Amino acid sequence: MTEKVCIVTGGSSGIGLAIVQRFLEANYLVYNLDMSPSSVGEFKACDISNVDQVNDIIKAIAQEHTIDALVSNAGIHFSATIEDTTEQDLEKVFNINVKGAYGAIKAVLPNMKASKQGSIVLMASDQALVGKRNSFAYNLSKSALASMAKTTALDYAAYNIRANAVCPGTIETPLYHKAIDNYCLTSGAEKAQVHLEEEAQQPIGRLGQPEEVAELVFFLCTYKASFITGSLQVIDGGYTAQ
Ligand code: NAP
Repeated sequence: MTEKVCIVTGGSSGIGLAIVQRFLEANYLVYNLDMSPSSVGEFKACDISNVDQVNDIIKAIAQEHTIDALVSNAGIHFSATIEDTTEQDLEKVFNINVKGAYGAIKAVLPNMKASKQGSIVLMASDQALVGKRNSFAYNLSKSALASMAKTTALDYAAYNIRANAVCPGTIETPLYHKAIDNYCLTSGAEKAQVHLEEEAQQPIGRLGQPEEVAELVFFLCTYKASFITGSLQVIDGGYTAQ
């Protein structure tokens, strides 16, 4: 049997790292495109906002392998209202969160089209479905990813390529800790208290863990999810059901 191949972006930390580990458990060859080095999977140093660099790295992988799955996960958080978001802030969030996904998807498609198969998962957010305060640029970028999953699903269904967006609620990762550290710095709030309040906001009474999201992503990339495409998969402990 030939080895299955998965490309994960932002696989050195948090949700991405759990995704890399889940695919490795299933004996996939996993490429991790990230800025921060990692010894888990095949690391490729990459700034996901640089479309040419992403294209060169994925093209080289595609010359050697059939790519079964792409998980476009790399992303940054940014907290501010529209008034407090500069043009540079907006560009930075979009370059990483949206243009990063665009470049990676565009680069894997020729390979997936040639093999008439493939699964693409975009890491959106519950913020693709609901608004959150003080989160203008991030919210916008995650809504764009939900849209990208739908249009990609429709345009490439004829090639048996599926595309879905995963919409996690609050997941305990370095990004989450950075976001509440920043909030505490500006508001003077105490971190332990903010963390308790975050937990209390979740109907299930706790934050999600990266491994829980990784399991959903992995499922979406298997034949068991063969009829699921163009969907937004919510994984949020009930947050958006309220
Ligand atoms: P994380 O722990 O910060 O991991 C993100 C990874 O992406 C890091 O390794 C980061 O590297 C990398 N990265 C950032 N900018 C990059 C770039 N330009 N090129 C390549 N790699 C880059 O974050 P996470 O919480 O796991 O989030 C992963 C994804 O899930 C993001 O898209 C995020 O928006 C989404 N999400 C997270 C939550 C949550 O509550 N945690 C909820 C919903 C959606 P550095 O460490 O060097 O920056």
